[in-house]
Amino acid sequence: MRFGSIPGRQHIKQHLSLLAAKDRLAHALIFTGPNGTAKLATAFALAAYLNCTNRSDHDSCGTCNQCLKQEKLIHPDVHFSFPVIRKDKPETGTVDYHLANWRSFIIENPYADIFDWFEKTKEGKKTGNIPSSEAQKIIRNLSLKRFEGNYKISIIWGAEYLGKDGNRLLKLIEEPPENTLLILITSQKEQILNTILSRCQEIRFPIYNNEELATYLQNHIQDQDRSNSLLLQANGNLNLLIKNMEQENISDQLNVFTWLASMLRKDVIAINQWIESFFVENRETQKNAMHFLIHYLRECFVLKNKQAHPVSMGAKELKMAQYIAKNLSNEEIMGIVHELEDIIYNIDRNAHAKVLLMDSSIRIMDRAFVYH
Ligand SMILES: [Zn+2]
Repeated sequence: MRFGSIPGRQHIKQHLSLLAAKDRLAHALIFTGPNGTAKLATAFALAAYLNCTNRSDHDSCGTCNQCLKQEKLIHPDVHFSFPVIRKDKPETGTVDYHLANWRSFIIENPYADIFDWFEKTKEGKKTGNIPSSEAQKIIRNLSLKRFEGNYKISIIWGAEYLGKDGNRLLKLIEEPPENTLLILITSQKEQILNTILSRCQEIRFPIYNNEELATYLQNHIQDQDRSNSLLLQANGNLNLLIKNMEQENISDQLNVFTWLASMLRKDVIAINQWIESFFVENRETQKNAMHFLIHYLRECFVLKNKQAHPVSMGAKELKMAQYIAKNLSNEEIMGIVHELEDIIYNIDRNAHAKVLLMDSSIRIMDRAFVYH
């Protein structure tokens, strides 16, 4: 992975390559920001840049021996830690056991998130953790002599899954061996121990703006309607964009359009069916779907008030948006947005959500006209 292969993120890439070129990188970095913002891919690109034997001012060469090893994620000086789901036997609870599988998974889509990884490796269980033994392995790895690279690097993907074991890394962060770099990556900064967070240099990854994603799409998709639809559904998440690009029919996140249309139609049976299917999914996916719908309704609001042309919509989404813009008042649209924000709040607090979601659906129905 080179910086140049990552869509957008210009200022982050320039910032990191400049610090690295001037030898001014901190020994411990933490990449924070939502899923789908290219944090892990950027860590790979930085690792390649640091160890490349033929780098330019801004990027690694991509062809030297060091780069080729980094590309396959087999560089002996770069160590990876990530959460794993333990199966029945104890040895299945280690990073080593899952490493080969993880490499091929993440090489296929370096923008994938932890939940995709859990989805791939789950066997009944839905969540995993970073094994306690990893902290020790990270310390050992960074203390070892370098094999062939300029830097020893440890990348921790899903650092929030370290839990209290993170404290074992404090000494390493405070007294790092020469030419070492620790990169923690998290989409849930609030779950990182303050003792760790305060000692790392933070690099923030905001969600992608539409221009960055549109530029990326131009090279892959010709059909403008499909492109618009993909941009809307992605809602700034590059991983979602890539996953949807691979599908013939772009499915909206957890079918929230079906739910919205059922509410506008006041079809309680359809709402109930949708709620049942919604609760099969993990909380993170549920929240993403709600965030997406909020994003969509804000676009409807913009359309209604003609403050600007709606950012991007395919024909299908635009049809419903035009209906909403025509028939719902500003207060009604924002009322639905507030209901959705409440739903996210309740999902976060593990509330008994089926009942709450039906209550919210009924309140939203009461706000809306009949949709045909
Ligand atoms: Zn190179």
